[in-house]
Amino acid sequence: SQYRAADDRYEQTPYERVGRSGLLLPRISLGLWNNFGHDRPLATQRDIVLHAFDRGVTHFDLANNYGPPYGAAEEQFGRILEADLRPYRDEIVVSTKAGYDMWAGPYGNWGSRKYLLASLDQSLARLGLEYVDVFYSHRPDPETPIEETMGALVTAVRSGRALYAGISNYSPAQTAAAAEVLAAEGVPLLIHQPRYSMFDRTPEAGLFDELERQGTGAIVFSPLAGGLLTDRYLDGSVPVGSRAAEGRWFGADRIDDDYLTTARALNDIAVARGQSLAQLAITWVLRQPAVTSALVGASSVRQLDGTLDALAGAPLSDDELAAIDALVPR
Ligand code: NDP
Repeated sequence: SQYRAADDRYEQTPYERVGRSGLLLPRISLGLWNNFGHDRPLATQRDIVLHAFDRGVTHFDLANNYGPPYGAAEEQFGRILEADLRPYRDEIVVSTKAGYDMWAGPYGNWGSRKYLLASLDQSLARLGLEYVDVFYSHRPDPETPIEETMGALVTAVRSGRALYAGISNYSPAQTAAAAEVLAAEGVPLLIHQPRYSMFDRTPEAGLFDELERQGTGAIVFSPLAGGLLTDRYLDGSVPVGSRAAEGRWFGADRIDDDYLTTARALNDIAVARGQSLAQLAITWVLRQPAVTSALVGASSVRQLDGTLDALAGAPLSDDELAAIDALVPR
């Protein structure tokens, strides 16, 4: 049946300016790293994406190698765009990246101009788009001059294949160097995508400060720690089909006594606020002034709904923040 977006979609999710740019992003964005391969039904993937858009989630995050197999998430999202979202293209921000392993040989990985621009053209073909909104260098390449990697992003923007440039997984010093090279070319560094959650507070040690100095926004990935900061494993069992059960990025051995003690104590703080653990985890990352958007994954519409309901929660009190700090120190 023909999709028609919910009329009230812009009354649901607040939007925030990305650094000192003209672009606004929803406070929660949807990532397609997991659950969007060819191993899962397109119908479920379509439901998740369209439901996100119906709730005001205008930003979808991809990368060349999201799948499995590599490229599959862009293909699946391209199908949903073509079938359902074509009339809404100008209401949607599509991001993609290159920087990790993508194809065989010396030109399918890391940060060369050769790799980044060829990969972007492949991504556009899979997505069925003339341009993406944001193109990222997915990780720093210690062997390639930063001028070359950033030069590829500049070309992507100047040639119209991308509207904005971003970086991911760069340290504070690498971020400063990247921003300087881009600024000299007149292409601002729009956004940085670091990992950040109650279980990984690394960006608090300098990265957020650097981003505020540069006027660059932060979109933080895995704010739910891949599901560890949700009720998925709280009873100590590992549900069939979960990331821990499938051993994707962490295994069942991650659900040990230490984990359960901490996660249950965090859950108690959430419940006392009338939130789920997932909602607390989102509220917590969004309290940082440098953070524009929390970039989540979801394997079902139900999960996505639960996560998005975080936006209705009250801000964290000083007492709640202190209780969290005691459990997951900086
Ligand atoms: P999350 O921390 O949001 O984990 C998502 C997983 O948590 C889901 O797949 C699901 O697990 C579980 N989950 C989500 N919501 C709920 C809920 N309400 N209740 C219970 N369980 C829930 O993020 P991801 O690790 O998936 O990363 C998000 C996005 O960030 C990626 O899609 C990608 O776009 C980006 N990313 C970028 C990286 C980079 O290097 N730049 C690296 C990693 C991610 P289950 O599948 O078990 O149901």
